[in-house]
Amino acid sequence: MSAVVQLRDNGGMSTTDLPGAFEHRYAALGEALHEPAAFPGFHAPELIAWNAPLAESLGLGDLNDLNDLNDQPARLARWFSGSEPLPGSRPIALAYAGHQFGQFVPRLGDGRAALLGEIVDPAGTRWDLQLKGSGPTAFSRGGDGKSSLGPVIREYLLSEAMHHLGVPTTRALAAVATGEDVFRERAEPGGVFTRVASSHIRIGTFQYFASQGDLESLRVLAEHAIDRHDPGAAATDQPFLALFRGVVARQSALVAKWLSIGFIHGVMNTDNTAVSGETLDYGPCAFMDEYRAQKVFSSIDRRGRYAYANQPAIVHWNLARLAECLLLLDEDVEGFQAELDRCPDILAAEHLRLMGAKLGIEAPREADRDLVDAFFRRLEAKDQDFTLGFRALADRLEAGDESAFGEVETRWRARLAEQGDAPDTVRARMNAVNPLYIPRNHQVERAIRGGFAGDYTVFHELDTVLRRPFDEQPEFAAYAVAPEPEERVLRTFCGT
Ligand code: AMP
Ligand code: MG
Repeated sequence: MSAVVQLRDNGGMSTTDLPGAFEHRYAALGEALHEPAAFPGFHAPELIAWNAPLAESLGLGDLNDLNDLNDQPARLARWFSGSEPLPGSRPIALAYAGHQFGQFVPRLGDGRAALLGEIVDPAGTRWDLQLKGSGPTAFSRGGDGKSSLGPVIREYLLSEAMHHLGVPTTRALAAVATGEDVFRERAEPGGVFTRVASSHIRIGTFQYFASQGDLESLRVLAEHAIDRHDPGAAATDQPFLALFRGVVARQSALVAKWLSIGFIHGVMNTDNTAVSGETLDYGPCAFMDEYRAQKVFSSIDRRGRYAYANQPAIVHWNLARLAECLLLLDEDVEGFQAELDRCPDILAAEHLRLMGAKLGIEAPREADRDLVDAFFRRLEAKDQDFTLGFRALADRLEAGDESAFGEVETRWRARLAEQGDAPDTVRARMNAVNPLYIPRNHQVERAIRGGFAGDYTVFHELDTVLRRPFDEQPEFAAYAVAPEPEERVLRTFCGT
């Protein structure tokens, strides 16, 4: 509590007074890895969302007390928009490169984001706190470094939904409306998003130094990545190979999880592929409504490079780019090739495990892949909803006739009969892994339209319902419903 009082009385407090004081390990890695950042600030920022449970888990519970005090949401809005320095923060923009739609761009970097620093939570885990949309940096090129409120609301809802769906992801701590317009295709209200990530190290970060032949920085980066994500690798004979093994395992499992919930990232460029294995950068991403294997939403993905069913091949390709970088530190080509080759196997095994569970199968076998494929072919042929299809299938366990899913259902019932569980047991098991609520595009767009008009009702309702995606919440039943054909969102935009 005393920290709160000091924050109110003394804006120029020392870092040790801030609950969960900032640390700056990444900043200390050397000047080649980042550029200093400064925030222009905003005159009348308004806090539109504050993630109190996340703040609590990060050891920033004193900030929740601030949020509860009458005059303090304004304080949080100023801090989390870069309008007033957050005590102890030292903003930097991180350098990175990346393959964008297959084309290598040697210098991208944080052009509209800045790392405030790291905090270590009560369990000892280190987290990055980053502001997104806070103003231009040395990496902004022609851009304004700002964000429309649209992408802020979208990332807040989708990243939190992903977390509650059990998928590794960066998190949302705060969303602020800046009170100032940004100019995209038209004037739109601006926003700043506070992202929490277990790091912001991307495959593209490695590519930045590898492409410059800066092996010293590459090594410093790799050692830091090991420290944060694969500490066990440090003690092995080939730490960089062990780091790579970790990234392959995490990214492969991640993409399998995306597939299991109908998620399409939309911009799987190497600069958006985190070595932590967290889902990173929610741009034109989307959950599909009706199932289509080749579904694409992003307006800029004209050739469907990042279509739903292409994601496994793309993550494999991206991991190959990381291997190329790390081979500059450890020349064991065969070793890296062997680790890279594990990507499709890990992905396929995880895919089978997850899809089997979605069908109520406890220990899926190779032969069950056929049943999974047949179920998806049926959904596609009948224009059925991905998410609700699995809930509807579980409901079939209570029904007598066998017609709703045709021949697939007959096969599925036969497979379940081998397990011998009671129908209500299987149904409960299926409903525990098949969400009822996902952030549907048409609802997310309603939340954004509301936000543009200063009405955050839909945003907050969606945020609330998506915290318990597997549980029926009768008061929010409308959010479970698939869009009518005319309500379907066909295209999504980066909006940056
Ligand atoms: P993304 O589409 O989020 O993966 O971003 C790709 C690159 O474009 C990154 O280097 C971003 O920092 C940069 N970028 C995107 N939007 C802006 C903006 N409004 N101002 C400056 N840079 C931007
Ligand atoms: Mg990005």
